[in-house]
Parts: sequence; structure tokens; C-alpha cells
Amino acid sequence: MSHLFYQGRGRKPVLDQARGVYMWDKDGKRYLDGSSGAMVCNIGHSNPNVLAAMQRQMEKSTFGYRLHFETEASEKLASKLAALAPGGLDKVFFVSGGSEAVESALKLARQYMNATGQGSRWKVISRQPSYHGSTLGALAVTGYTPLSAPFEPMLRQMPKIPAPRAYLDGRDPRDPASGHHYANMLASAIEAEGPETVAAFIVEPVGGASTGALVPPAGYMERIREICDRYGILMIADEVMTGAGRTGRFLGSDHWNARPDIIVMSKGLGAGYVPLGAMIADARLVEPVLDAGGFAHGYTYAGNPLACAAGLAVVEEIEGQALCANADRMGERLLARLRGLMQKHEVIGDVRGMGLLTAFELMSDRDSKAPLPKGLNAYQRLVDIAYDKGLIVYSRRTRDGIEGDHILVCPPLIVTDDHLDEIIEGLDAALS
Ligand code: PMP
Repeated sequence: MSHLFYQGRGRKPVLDQARGVYMWDKDGKRYLDGSSGAMVCNIGHSNPNVLAAMQRQMEKSTFGYRLHFETEASEKLASKLAALAPGGLDKVFFVSGGSEAVESALKLARQYMNATGQGSRWKVISRQPSYHGSTLGALAVTGYTPLSAPFEPMLRQMPKIPAPRAYLDGRDPRDPASGHHYANMLASAIEAEGPETVAAFIVEPVGGASTGALVPPAGYMERIREICDRYGILMIADEVMTGAGRTGRFLGSDHWNARPDIIVMSKGLGAGYVPLGAMIADARLVEPVLDAGGFAHGYTYAGNPLACAAGLAVVEEIEGQALCANADRMGERLLARLRGLMQKHEVIGDVRGMGLLTAFELMSDRDSKAPLPKGLNAYQRLVDIAYDKGLIVYSRRTRDGIEGDHILVCPPLIVTDDHLDEIIEGLDAALS
């Protein structure tokens, strides 16, 4: 009997080893990690340079409490991230995961408003559907009803606007009019809430688990930035999934001329080697908060030297192996191959993504975009069949988790054409 428990009762094979894009269980069965865990292991498993950097750090020190010591590792990683982030975003706050990073951003936004005489601004508008984490603060901005409903009324939901889903609404995602249409919903929400009550808007540059690699329509991010400026509210980019090269650039935000005020990242930064996350904020927000008495927030393990040494080595691998460029190139090929599967399998209703954040959505009818019947649990069945065949992919119900099925295909950024062949063969067999 196992003493562990997670979300449910299901038992999984026991993991033994992992190298590159492959993982092996205790029975010696091999799996291709087609979802990088949960879009985490961006540089692949057991990278020798990261392991060596961790070993070197472990031999020096593994922990120094942040209120007692600065560490070389955290200083170096902070400088690296500040250099890679858009201009002005040069203050870095370390945490140990995505939810903690989102919490930090929500609290910094709030404290910035207090410190600058705008204490009436406390709401953070977000999107439906969206996923920003499982702590109560992050859940308040998460638009995913099945996850938030069990915690009401303690959980105070923040206002939501619809995430742009041009493919369901019959709009052309390449037409900036579509982007403006959805972004203008933010202006309407701010007006409805009262601009003097709104502190920030939080957005995943490319939708992740909640919407299945949904890329915003042309003009959306730029118009969002304009609206945030017009109303004096902060723009927070949740790059927990899109950061660290996943979309073909180091940050998802790099694809648009819409600089956020705060960026949060996590998954691909620790890349499966360590729990690590970061909030990268505009110094203009941080300084007034520090002047007003300090940021009233922090976590014990934040910025520990082992995590930061591993994170620095991960970023150096992303740069040294030009993994953003590989994600861009292989992502294009993967999308083309998934479109090929769509020709063959009627059940695929949409293929989408950016870089190696790619997905396809299962539908019962392509024209009407009708989802598959809920009771079928088609997405779970597909994932289970692929798993039996040695291919790991990641699925969720789209459309607020209530209907619609998508499968995220997000292998490590080190994939080659041969790996793509294997992924497509596995999916083809599972779909058949
Ligand atoms: N934000 C986004 C966009 C995510 O995808 C996730 C995790 N799926 C989180 C936040 C929460 O991260 P964590 O699970 O590390 O707390």
C-alpha cells in the first residue's frame, strides 16, 4: 500500500531513470516525454552541465537564508534574468514555483498601489478560462471553475474577461480587428468595476493548460498594453509556462511590442532539476514599495543557492545550445505534422501553438466546433492509450474545464526530427 496521495487514486508506474527526451520505469519500459512533464523539462532530463553545476554548488553550500546572506548563485541568476527580460524589468524576486511567483506579483501590484497613494486599487482582472496556480490568491485570478468552486465562499473571485478564442467565434486571428475586439473587453471590465478599484491585469501570453496553447489574435497584446496604460493599471505576464524558451523566444512576451510591468516564470527555469520560480519586475514598481517599508512577502526556500545555481546552468544551456531557435524551428515542423494528422483524423478540430507550446483539440464536429460528449472522456482515453504505447502527452478539458478536450504536445526544446517522427507515430496510433 502506498502512503502517497495526489489528485486522485490512480497508480502510475514507478519512475527509474530519465535522459534527454526519454524516461524509463522500473520495469524497463521507455517513454518519450512528449509534454516535458508538465511543460517543465525544457532542456531535457539529466543534462550533465546542470548536474555538474548542482554538484559544485552542493559542495560549497546548499542553503543560506535570504535574510542572512546574499549568494553568488542568486545574484548571478538575477543579473542573467534581468538582462534577458525587456528593458526596465530588472528587479528579480525568487520563489520556488509558479503559484508562489503569481502570488508575489499579485502582492507586489497591491503594495505598489498602496505605496503610491492608490490604496483603493485592489482588484486584479484576469481571463476565463485561464490557469494561474493553486494557492488561494493565484486561484482567485484563475478562470477554471472546477478548480475554484470547491473553495468558495472563502475564495474571493477576481473579475474575469473572456480569453480570446477566435477559432470558436469564427473570427480571423490574423486580423488586428479580432485582437482589438477581445482586448476591448478589458476596457469594458475596468469601466464596469470602476477604474479606481483596479490594480492590474494578469495574462498568459500564450494560453497553457487552461486553453491548450491558444495564441492571441493579432493586435491583442499591444491593445491590452494600451488599455493598461490608459487606466494606469499594471500588466502582469504569467510566463510560468511560456518562459524559458518554450514559445521559441526566451520569454513569450518577446513576441509582441507590449512590455509587461511584471513577468513571472517558473517551470522551465528549474526545468525539473529544482523547484524554482522568479518574479521579474519593473524597478519603478519595486522602489516605492521598498521606500514605504519593504515588500511584506517572502518564502523560506526562496532563492536558495542550489536552486539558483541549477537555474543559472539551465539558462546557460538554453543559450549555449540555441534552444529558443530550435523550439521555433521544431515547433513549426511539429505544427505542420499535427496538421497532417488533422487531415487523417476527423476528430481533430483545431491545431494551434507557438514554438514548442503546441496542442490539438478534439471535437465531434469541425464546422460547428461542437465538443465531444463529456462522458466519453476522450482526451483522457487518448492520453492513456499513448502512455501505454510509450508516449507521454498532457491533456485537459478546454472551455473552462467543462467541455472540449485538448492535448498539449510540448516535448523538451532539444527534440530532433527523429523524436518528432516518434511523437507523430505514437499519436497516430493512439488516435486510430
Ligand atoms: N501559471 C501558469 C500559466 C501555469 O501553467 C502554472 C502551472 N501549470 C502555474 C501558474 C502554477 O505553477 P505551479 O504548479 O508551479 O505552482
